[in-house]
Amino acid sequence: MSSANIASEKKNKDTSNVINQMSLFNHEQLVFCNDNNVGLKAIIAIHSTALGPALGGTRMWNYVSEQEAVTDVLRLSRGMTYKSAVAGINLGGGKAVIIGDPKKTKTEALLRSYGKFINNLGGKYITAEDVAMNSKDMEIIHAETKYVTGLPESMGGSGDPSPVTAMGVWMGIKASSKEVYGNSSLSGKKVIVQGLGNVGKHLIDLLAKENAQLFVYDIDSEKLKEVSKKHRVTVLSEGELYSADADIYAPCALGATVNSNTLEQLKVKIICGSANNQLADEDIHGRMVEEKGILYAPDFVVNAGGIINVYYELQGYNRERALTHAERIYDTTTKIFEIAKQQKLPTYLAANHLAEERINTIAKIKARI
Ligand code: NAD
Repeated sequence: MSSANIASEKKNKDTSNVINQMSLFNHEQLVFCNDNNVGLKAIIAIHSTALGPALGGTRMWNYVSEQEAVTDVLRLSRGMTYKSAVAGINLGGGKAVIIGDPKKTKTEALLRSYGKFINNLGGKYITAEDVAMNSKDMEIIHAETKYVTGLPESMGGSGDPSPVTAMGVWMGIKASSKEVYGNSSLSGKKVIVQGLGNVGKHLIDLLAKENAQLFVYDIDSEKLKEVSKKHRVTVLSEGELYSADADIYAPCALGATVNSNTLEQLKVKIICGSANNQLADEDIHGRMVEEKGILYAPDFVVNAGGIINVYYELQGYNRERALTHAERIYDTTTKIFEIAKQQKLPTYLAANHLAEERINTIAKIKARI
C-alpha cells in the first residue's frame, strides 16, 4: 500500500488488533518468541521480502506493554524496507525487539535462545545490532545461527559501519548543495555538525578536506576537545546551535531535532545528517521545512551507509565496494529532489515513492520464472 493511502486506511481500521495493524502496513509475518527457561520474550517482524531477505537490527527495550512492542517493531521493520529499497540493495525489511531490561536480563542463554528462533526462519530474517545490542551480542547469537550481521572484523564481519555512513551523508550534503547553490563544492560553506560520535567525527574529516567552515556541538566536552585538536572548528554552545549563521545543518546525534522550536531558529538552507527520525513529526515538519525554504535530505536515504555496509558483509566483506555503493547516495538524493519538484511533494514522501517504485518493479521481475 502506498504511504499516501495509509493515513486514510488507518481511520477505518481497529488498530488494537494485531492482524489489522499488519494488514495496514502490508507486513508479511510477525513471529512471537517465548522461552520460559531463559526469560526470552521477543517479536520478529518481517515487513517485506520482495527484494530479498528481511534485514534489520534487534532492539532490546523494557517496553511497558506488549502493544507498545508490537507497534514499535511493525513501524521499524517497515522503515527498513524503505531504507534498503531506496539504497538500491537486494534486501527486504525486518526488525526484532526483545522485551526486557538489557542491564538485568540480557544473558548468553537468552541471546542463544533468541538465535535459535532466528535460525528457524531459515534466512527469511537476518539480524544486526540496534539499541542495547552490540557486536559481542551478535557473536553470541552467531553461535546458533548464521543469519546475523555486524560481526567484528576478526570474525570476517564488516566491523564499524560509521565511515560508510559518513560517506553517504557527505554525498547527501553535496547533492543538496548542488540543488540549492548550483554547485556541489562545500568549500567555504558553513556547516553545523551536531554530535561528534562515530559518524560525526568521520563526517568532519570529509568536510574539512573540502575546506568547509565547521561549527560543532556535542554534549560530551571530550569529543569537542578531540575535534578541535584535529581541525579548525568553531565550537558552539547548546544555545547557539540552531540559530548559528550557517548554510547546512547536519544532525548526527539524536532524532526529532527538526521540530517547531528548532525550525523557528534555524537559518540554514539545507538539513542533511545521519541521525534517524530527524523530523519530530513527518507530516507537520516535513512540510514546515519546505515553507521555510529549507531543503531536507531524508535521513533514511542519506544514512543508508550502515545497511549498505552489512549488505556487503553478507557477500564476503569488501570495504571499497561498500564505500563505492555509498557514493551513489549522491545520485539517489538528486533523484529524490527531482521527484519532489515534479510531483510537488515534501522530500521525505518523494523518497517513499522512489522506494515503492523499486519494490513494485523489481518484485514483478523476481516473480517471473
Ligand atoms: P554515537 O553514539 O557514536 O555518537 C553520538 C554523539 O552524539 C555522541 O558523541 C554524543 O555525545 C552526542 N550527543 C548525544 N546527545 C546529544 C545532544 N543532545 N546534543 C549534541 N550531541 C549529543 O552514534 P553514531 O554511531 O555516531 O550515530 C549518530 C546518529 O546516526 C544516531 O542517531 C544513529 O542512530 C544514526 N546512525 C548511525 C549509523 C552508523 O553507522 N553508526 C547508521 C545510521 C544511522
